[in-house]
This record gives sequence, C-alpha cells and structure tokens, in this order.
Amino acid sequence: MIETTTLFAPATGPARAAVSVIRISGPNAAAVIRALAPPLPVPRRLSLRTLRMPDGDPLDEALVAWMPGPASFTGEDMAELHLHGGLAVRTAVLRALAEIPGCQPAEPGAFTRRAFLNGRLDLTEAEGIADLIDAETEAQRRQALRQLDGALGRQVADWRTRLIDLLAGVEAALDFSDEGDVDDAALDAALSQRARAIRDQIAAVLADGHRGERLRDGFTVVLAGPPNAGKSTLLNALSRREAAIVSDLPGTTRDVIEVRCDLGGLPVILVDTAGLRAATDAIEAEGIRRTRARMAQADLIVMLEGPDAERDSKPTPDPGGPVLHVRTKCDLGLGDSSNDTDCIAISALTGAGLDRLLAAIEARAAQAIGSGDALITRERHRLGLSRCRDHLDRLLAGAPLPELAAEDLRLAVRALGEVAGHVGVEEMLDRLFAGFCIGK
Ligand code: GDP
Repeated sequence: MIETTTLFAPATGPARAAVSVIRISGPNAAAVIRALAPPLPVPRRLSLRTLRMPDGDPLDEALVAWMPGPASFTGEDMAELHLHGGLAVRTAVLRALAEIPGCQPAEPGAFTRRAFLNGRLDLTEAEGIADLIDAETEAQRRQALRQLDGALGRQVADWRTRLIDLLAGVEAALDFSDEGDVDDAALDAALSQRARAIRDQIAAVLADGHRGERLRDGFTVVLAGPPNAGKSTLLNALSRREAAIVSDLPGTTRDVIEVRCDLGGLPVILVDTAGLRAATDAIEAEGIRRTRARMAQADLIVMLEGPDAERDSKPTPDPGGPVLHVRTKCDLGLGDSSNDTDCIAISALTGAGLDRLLAAIEARAAQAIGSGDALITRERHRLGLSRCRDHLDRLLAGAPLPELAAEDLRLAVRALGEVAGHVGVEEMLDRLFAGFCIGK
C-alpha cells in the first residue's frame, strides 16, 4: 500500500495548552523536517529545533521527532512537532505545512486508517484505539486496552487459521476424491470434531450477556415515574450539576435528558424522562413517546413515586424489565418513608438515601457488566461471530457433501475475516474511521 500524499494534523486538542503536537505521515515526512527544521534528527530521539518558514522567518522553538517507516505507527515515514501550545503557533505551523508540496490535512482517523491498510494493526485493534481515546471510566479504559492489545483480534485470527486448515483439508479431499484413496467417513468425523470445537468456543464468547457492549456504551438507567415525583431534582443531585431543568410545573421535562457518570469505574448513563401521564399537547406527547422508547431499552428503570399523600390513586404501571423502586421527598415526613427491601426512600433535597440508591444502581451495573473481560465490544463483532457460528451449525447439521462443507467453511472464514478487517468493506471502513478524532 503506497500512499503518495503526506498527511498532517494536530494530534492534541484545540484548547490552549503547554504543548501541542502535530503529526506528519507519508513519503514527504523527511522533506517536511528538512524544510522547516533541518537537519533530519536521529530517528526516535527528540531534538530541539527552531522551526522556520521557507523565507527564514521563525515559527516556534519545538521538539522534533523523526520516526522512519516501516516501524512507525502508520508504517510510513512519520514526524512529530511538539510545539508551544498556543493557538497562533499551531495555526502558523499548520499553514506552513499546507504550503509544502504533497502535504495535505488529515481527515479524522486517517493515520489509524493508514496503519490498518499497512497491516500495522487489524480492525479490532484500530477500534481499541478509538475506544481508548473515548474511555471515560477505569473499566472502559481496561477493556479498550485489552482490545488494542489484540485480545479479540488474536482469538479471531486463531479461529480463522484453524478453519482455513479445515477448508484446505476438504479441498484437498475434493481434488483427490477421484483417486479413491481418501477415506471419506474418517475425514468427516475429524472435520466435524474440529469444526464443533471452534463452533463451541465462538458460542461461548457470544454468550457473554452483552457485557462488553454495555461497558463500552454505558449502563443505561432511566429515571421514570409520574410528573413531580422528583426525577429532575434527583438527576441533578446525583450528577451534582444542573443538567436537567427542575421545576414544580408538571410536564416541564419534555425531552429526554442524559447525564453520563462514573459509578465505581463503570459508565452509567442516567436518563431523565418526561413524566408519564396523559399528555396535554403534542410536544408533551412526543416526550412521553420517547420516555417509553428509552424505558424499553433501559438496563435499569428507577421508578420514582412521591410520598403517599402526593400519589394518585392509580399505581404506576409496571414498565417491565429490571426496576428499582424509590420513594422520593422523604424529608417531607409524609406517608411511610421506612426503607423496606423493595423500596429505597430518598430526599434529593437533604441527600438522605442517595448513597444507598447509588450503591444499588452500582451493584446492578456491576452485575450486568460483570468483570468486564468480554471479548465482544461492538455489535459489529457480534454479527460477524454469529454469522460464523451459523455457517458452522449448517456444516454440522448433517453429513454434507464435501462441496457444501467447503462452501460453509469458506463463508465461516469470510465472516471472521470481516471482524478482523481482512475482507475489506470500504463503506464500513469509512464509517468506522470517521468516528475517530483528527490526528489519530
Ligand atoms: P419531575 O417532574 O419528576 O422531574 O419532578 P421535579 O424534579 O421537577 O420536582 C417536582 C417538585 O418536587 C419540585 O418543586 C421539587 O423542588 C420538589 N422536590 C423534588 N425532590 C424533592 C425532595 O427530595 N424533597 C422535597 N421537599 N421536594 C422535592
């Protein structure tokens, strides 16, 4: 894979900072350093240089790193400029780079895409990088690092190699079947046994209760209950910021409001919803429709009810799915505020009971996410592995003709190849890398 363009992009965020890093990758990387900060430094050692415009005008005092390919992140010649972190410095250097022939600004994810295309990492490792950058909690960081380290990629590669071996065996048997010296029955038994072993391992990985996806996407907790039960006030108290509008007019939370938080290292998304009641206008009706949609997808519903005196006669309908019942406003001293095992009494105003509620949510999240050592972290992986398992199931269902067995094996190998990115699906790559940041 030979690229002719040389990419450059800031690798650090756009805010004012002590240092800002610009990355350069491609065939002209050495020429860029020679143009802005000659001579070329010793590979992989930082050198202090004055960066200058072609007319000699100084741009900045910077540390320059030169990382010749193929042993670089992208596999190409690369350079890094560690500038002073001012916005004007960065803008001036980016402008100077844009004027160097063959250089162009990088799209989001362009460096990782080149690393992938040059075989420096497989698709699951590239996703691991994206997840590591997006990781907000400790458990997410650990999971992303495991994926970047190749935990999923290695396992998929192992299954794929074993299936390719089986396929080679079947194809050889097909080639020699006319010669009458191949024992078909013996081959079938050995093939089935080895295919079944792989099939069972894939099935075991798939039966992970979606732990990896939950950890990556967050454990969703929907705060539900009638208007004025105290949902918005609780969300604010829990997230310790004014994220939701609190108001004593029923029906003010007309949309769904989300707050991401870190409970014991696990990512939890708290969702405040429009009150569940008969809508008085179209906007509120839409809010209620969204509430029901979020409740249907929730990992946990925290069902709030005001004190007895505030409750209407009809009980809130059972939303289905896992529910935690909470009695709000226990500071008012109305009704029965005793903590029974099924219901946690809280006051968002005084903070009473909030620790107990958080501990209960954290326990549910920990139970759902488990130890977080799942291999599958995205729907994409799950689809590929499920397809592979289905092809193996078909293979194992009967005593197939060798031609059909070969076809099932080929499709199973292909499904694994898609997970690792061996089977290039250009559109999927575009979507995936567009989700990265610029400079990565
Ligand atoms: P929502 O409609 O369920 O989101 O309810 P809000 O959070 O907007 O609260 C409705 C009213 O109840 C507001 O006037 C809040 O100040 C009040 N409220 C909420 N939580 C508490 C609480 O713990 N104690 C008391 N005394 N009032 C509360």
